[in-house]
Amino acid sequence: MKKQLCLLITISFSVIVTNAQNKVNRDTINPKLTEVWSPVPPVVTPGKTSSDAPSDAVILFDGKNLDQWRSNKNPDQPAGWTVANGVFTVKKGTGDIETKESFTDFQLHLEWQIPKIIHGENQARGNSGVFLSTGGQGDGYEIQILDCYNNKTYVNGQTASVYKQAIPLANACKKPGEWQTYDIIWAAPRFNEDGSLKTPARVTVIHNGVLMQNNTELKGETVYRGQPVYTKHEAKPIKLQDHGDPSEPISFRNIWVRPL
Ligand code: MG
Repeated sequence: MKKQLCLLITISFSVIVTNAQNKVNRDTINPKLTEVWSPVPPVVTPGKTSSDAPSDAVILFDGKNLDQWRSNKNPDQPAGWTVANGVFTVKKGTGDIETKESFTDFQLHLEWQIPKIIHGENQARGNSGVFLSTGGQGDGYEIQILDCYNNKTYVNGQTASVYKQAIPLANACKKPGEWQTYDIIWAAPRFNEDGSLKTPARVTVIHNGVLMQNNTELKGETVYRGQPVYTKHEAKPIKLQDHGDPSEPISFRNIWVRPL
């Protein structure tokens, strides 16, 4: 017993001495040694508010036309949705629309509005979605858009979910009729030469200023049935969904993207 006590005291003393030796006296270090002066980040002029496009953004919709968009099903055809009064509205049955330009990693801002007169329930109530890439052999990677203001649905399919992959951290839906914002940071997946996954996609989603997805890792392209899967792709368009449900169509405005 006495022997064990001696051993314990010896070990404790050694730990104290080692900790004392490891403690750095920072007063003696020149602070200039850890200053980094280049490369200098580019100057970006911010918008008037955080919803307004900064100077280096690619404007995807400025209230005038859908010139930056095309049909997803028939890429040689124009986007068939309706532009009026500075916004555009899903024209049900005409299909998804996608950007003419392709993107890899980016910061995206978009605003959307569920119509005040919305009807339906569960997934059939203002369903749309923003696909951050049209992906490889699947449909791409969908951040859900849905009216979840007093509308119950499966939680991995509610507003700001990574559809059927990641439940959002909160429900910050505004009432139908009010405009809502998405600010999304997208890191696209990378693939090896042989098509295998090198690094998975990651996404951060802020809905109406509230964090929903915090650097969430994706398991693959989002799918309605079964498990997600990755298939190799490069830079791809951003896509908006014309969902097949019969509820009133939703509208979009003020969309811009900053490639990273
Ligand atoms: Mg959807």
